[in-house]
Amino acid sequence: MYNYNNTSNKIPLSVPQIIGNEWTYIKECLDSGWVSSAGKFVEKFEQDCCNYTGSKYAVACVNGTSALHVSLILAGVKSDEEVLVPTLTFIAPINVVAYIGAKPVFMDCDDYYNMNVEKVESFLKHNTYYKNGFTFNKITKKRIAAIIPVHVFGNAVDMDSLLKICSEYNIKIIEDATESLGTTYNTGQFAIRQTGTIGHFGCLSFNGNKIITTGGGGMILTNNREYADRARYLTTQAKDDVIKYIHNEVGFNYRLTNIQAAMGVAQLENLSEFIKIKKQNYTTYKNTIDNIDGLVLTAVPKYADNNYWMYALQIDEKVYGKNTQQLMMKFSKYNIETRPVWYLNHLQKPFKRCQTYNIEKAYKMYESTLNIPCSVNLKSEEINQIISVLDHA
Ligand SMILES: *Cc1c(COP(=O)(O)O)cnc(C)c1O
Repeated sequence: MYNYNNTSNKIPLSVPQIIGNEWTYIKECLDSGWVSSAGKFVEKFEQDCCNYTGSKYAVACVNGTSALHVSLILAGVKSDEEVLVPTLTFIAPINVVAYIGAKPVFMDCDDYYNMNVEKVESFLKHNTYYKNGFTFNKITKKRIAAIIPVHVFGNAVDMDSLLKICSEYNIKIIEDATESLGTTYNTGQFAIRQTGTIGHFGCLSFNGNKIITTGGGGMILTNNREYADRARYLTTQAKDDVIKYIHNEVGFNYRLTNIQAAMGVAQLENLSEFIKIKKQNYTTYKNTIDNIDGLVLTAVPKYADNNYWMYALQIDEKVYGKNTQQLMMKFSKYNIETRPVWYLNHLQKPFKRCQTYNIEKAYKMYESTLNIPCSVNLKSEEINQIISVLDHA
């Protein structure tokens, strides 16, 4: 069997871990002929995601981006309305706002790379007005219809604060939990909840670089039966009569295939184990890295139990003596793959004319951060090798 993980001495940033029942379940699809968007694994994968996260409903999609797209439509966001988004994140949750002709308004981040909830509150307080039960932007006069908090790198956003604010301003919450499957949120005040089940919608991704993968795939989580039914309807071409092919709305071909779902079922069986290993590796990294002058591994928010999807190293260039680019180049000499965080979205060409609110910290986090290898199969020798590269700056 071809094993791409062992063909070179390279230490990749993040590779999938395929060690469970993937072959068995996928073979079952091939043997039975159920390879497309119907079949028992799609339903099973949805049910398993409900069981794992505690969500009432789950609707499988072709990828995380399509899950976000459909969620925005279900949240009732119309073209020419506005959606609050973080500037520091992968671009997918910003692109989906553009798909429906709405406009993103960019927010700053906090110490955990997440949307800064205090600044969101301050923006809503000072820059909007409330009329007929809805919130409007003072400058553009457009309705602010939704917000997409992203649980970046698996760190949970402070959801209780956000829930409170958004219910006050009547803004729908679509959690981008594509990086945080398995992260739990617990302020001690309410029951422990999984990220993706706290807002009106939660979106998951099963892309190859995520904590579990189906090659490509996604999921919409919701506790609302009507939303779930409509999600299923819109992701299957909005078919109103399956015999006569009557369609009363514009739908999408966004359903996951049975083969992909079969892989997802197998991957999900190992998620708890993956998180356990990732946590151990995080602790090993953290205990050593935080003792190196000028370096710190990003902490986990107090109110969360992380899935430890991606480890973020913060570099204080003045103390450490190297900046992000220089350290990345040094790593690549040792065949170790690292990656800077995403370029800020409010600076990206399609979005650079969009409104922003007090973006400060995101610049600093962008400049000072490097993601280091985080695959589940990382060996302790490899972790030691990575640490020794960091230690001999
Ligand atoms: C991966 C990712 C997505 C999109 O997921 P796909 O399955 O690749 O479409 C969306 N948002 C964030 C923050 C992501 O990291």
